[in-house]
Amino acid sequence: MNCFIIRYSEIGLKGKNRPYFERSLLSSIKRSLKYFNIEFSKITRIRGRIILHSKDKKADDALKKVFGIASFSEAIECPLKIQEIKKEVFELIKSSKDREIKTFRITTNRLVKNFNMTSQQINEIIGEAVLLRYPELKVSLKNPQLNIGIEISNSKAYVYTKKEKALGGLPISVSGRCIVLLSGGIDSPVAAYQIMRRGCNVHLIHFSHTTSTNKIKKIYEKLKEYNPLLKLSIIPFNNIENQIIKYSPSKYRIIILRIAFIKYIEKHFPNQPIVTGDNLGQVASQTIENLRTISSFSSALILRPLISFDKQQIIEIAKEIGTYELSILPYTDCCNLLVSTHPEIKATPEEIKEIVEKIQL
Ligand code: ATP
Ligand code: MG
Repeated sequence: MNCFIIRYSEIGLKGKNRPYFERSLLSSIKRSLKYFNIEFSKITRIRGRIILHSKDKKADDALKKVFGIASFSEAIECPLKIQEIKKEVFELIKSSKDREIKTFRITTNRLVKNFNMTSQQINEIIGEAVLLRYPELKVSLKNPQLNIGIEISNSKAYVYTKKEKALGGLPISVSGRCIVLLSGGIDSPVAAYQIMRRGCNVHLIHFSHTTSTNKIKKIYEKLKEYNPLLKLSIIPFNNIENQIIKYSPSKYRIIILRIAFIKYIEKHFPNQPIVTGDNLGQVASQTIENLRTISSFSSALILRPLISFDKQQIIEIAKEIGTYELSILPYTDCCNLLVSTHPEIKATPEEIKEIVEKIQL
């Protein structure tokens, strides 16, 4: 194999959107290769695909972390001639022989339609050639042991046997930027992941109670694998916590803390959308009424990508992306001091307005 053929989902990629998406994806892939120290000789855009020339065995680890890639295959690039394609297909079968292959199929896909044969004709010609050369093999369209893919571009053909599913989503930056409120918990790293997956470049903000924020930095490093542009700021919040303890009855404290987070962001990062790991009904501060009250103190767009997820779903994603093991490490977060045994579950803006006004950010 001498290259990787990289596919993206083309749904919704119309008109002017398309080159922008493709350029962003290309930049994302280059960034990821650099981040993981993967050597490559060339990376190019062809119609509907990106071709990466790399012999580095670890290139697939980097590609598996790039949002916007739907799937990819390690492939052999060859000149666009039926004889050349045959030769490479024979090579592939030869190298798969030790795996006791008995059945195969050829699946051709033309990325451009100006080649002088249809996909079906190519399937038949190559299939027949394989049967002649390897009479012990049989075609199985439904359940082949070896599925040989051929993709036809303007000037080259690509031959491969495996398709790796990738993350999907949109390349970083096509949806702009946003702030993600990162706690030491399980949910907010997953919220950051979900919003990055939809093409947002992210600045993580963590409001800290202590100076030992190693755990937060570890979560940041893990998330950075999916977006090397990711930023983290840690903002000491003790002074504000103390004001909240001073001015607020205990039942409102967590809600006031959440409002203080949002107002702080609005002041220091004006016009940035704010993303949280809130999840409906999970804790007292996350009832519809309380979420509405928190939002009412700010005009910022607040996005809550996990709002409808079950905790179990969130945990599964956290495990898959590698943040779970870090999130369950012990940590004293801002809210630990402020939790109440009887938190208000239906705070109205009117009843807490005066307290909020006293907090100096
Ligand atoms: P998580 O697992 O993300 O901590 P949670 O279910 O524990 O979520 P809360 O502690 O109520 O929920 O926090 C709700 C959201 O507020 C978090 O998902 C996060 O976006 C934000 N948040 C909480 N604590 C902090 C913090 N110390 N710094 C920044 N954001 C925070
Ligand atoms: Mg939390």
